[in-house]
Amino acid sequence: MTPTAPITQDVLTLPRKLPEGGLTNIVGLTRDQLRTALIAAGTPEKQAKMRLGQIWQWVYHWGVRDFAQMTNLAKDYRALLADHFTIELPEVVSKQVSTDGTRKYLVRIAGGHEVEVVYIPETDRGTLCISSQVGCTLTCSFCHTGTQKLVRNLTAGEIVGQVMLARDDLGEWPVQGDPKNETRLISNIVLMGMGEPLYNFENVRDAMKVVMDNEGIALGRRRITLSTSGVVPEIARTATEIGCLLAISFHATTDEVRDQLVPINKRWNIATLLDALREYPGLSNSERITFEYVMLDGVNDTKEDAHRLVELLRGIPAKVNLIPFNEWPGAPYKRSSGNRIHAFADIIYQAGYASPIRTPRGEDIMAACGQLKSATERARKSSRAIAAEAGLSHG
Ligand code: SAH
Ligand code: SF4
Repeated sequence: MTPTAPITQDVLTLPRKLPEGGLTNIVGLTRDQLRTALIAAGTPEKQAKMRLGQIWQWVYHWGVRDFAQMTNLAKDYRALLADHFTIELPEVVSKQVSTDGTRKYLVRIAGGHEVEVVYIPETDRGTLCISSQVGCTLTCSFCHTGTQKLVRNLTAGEIVGQVMLARDDLGEWPVQGDPKNETRLISNIVLMGMGEPLYNFENVRDAMKVVMDNEGIALGRRRITLSTSGVVPEIARTATEIGCLLAISFHATTDEVRDQLVPINKRWNIATLLDALREYPGLSNSERITFEYVMLDGVNDTKEDAHRLVELLRGIPAKVNLIPFNEWPGAPYKRSSGNRIHAFADIIYQAGYASPIRTPRGEDIMAACGQLKSATERARKSSRAIAAEAGLSHG
């Protein structure tokens, strides 16, 4: 057995079932892709830029789903659009609301797969936690998602669609004629749901470009945080091609322990990862890297660990986010005690790094970090049934 056995990028990507009639879904297309598609559908090249801008605003600023409502376009052009395109989001199968206000959506995407999306309201912000893959090819031993076998990458449209369906549910699209509302219910996005975003880089990038675009949803790049378990070769691209903030699932201070917790460490160990982070383009105090550190009782939570962590972070503008372990059925770990977590946090803080302890949210509906695992796997369909549904033969 090679130690790198569980690391694979070779995920099952099922072909996307085309919408009825072979229409192209506008959601998730980049500006360039949409322009090309509009021309292919018969938009005169000279008008393409202007039409693109108009459609973009309807879809991403106003949240319109019906071409008939795009009143600044000629009637016959609206009909032409309807003949070639749709504006489609993944389907919300169920919504659960926690006693603390956290909302969890179970969302069905093409092929019958399901992913989870979580909205976390706080006093001064609202964070939407979105997924990048169905399941995850990595197998971090403390993560529920990592126990889900079936994996496929989400398309850019399915990633943007998660943001749009949450805006639908929260009633966050502006209403024409109403005064501009500056309070954002979704003020931040974290790519911390199911999946390893850097194993689906292009789709995540394209989706975030759509979400950041100023003429649409217009969420600033610093309001988006991408969390990775440490896919070293893709880390620099996160800065240069997306420009969002970065979080690293660090979780251990020795390779021995990190190999156990985050098996991708066998491929890119702590030293290699930290080297990549020191070279992260645009790294500065205002754009610090967040180190996520799950507190596991008796595994990684000693004072020695805290001191080692401080040594490792030297030279990297960083903050440490301590995550009390969220339990799930059959999990092989326990959450560290409150005393341990506070003692750990103090050592990091004394060394000059912010070290907030993340309050678990939505635990009663299994919406907390690392608890996500779609019902696809939990209860219902076999991968064979899903492949069959998508029109594939299994095997
Ligand atoms: N795959 C990416 C992003 C999704 S995980 C990554 O690993 O970074 C989002 C965060 O939740 C990660 O830091 C992850 O390590 C953490 N996490 C996973 N399972 C958890 C659990 N059971 N309790 C607390 N945090 C967990
Ligand atoms: Fe995948 Fe992240 Fe879970 Fe690890 S922690 S199994 S990388 S989702």
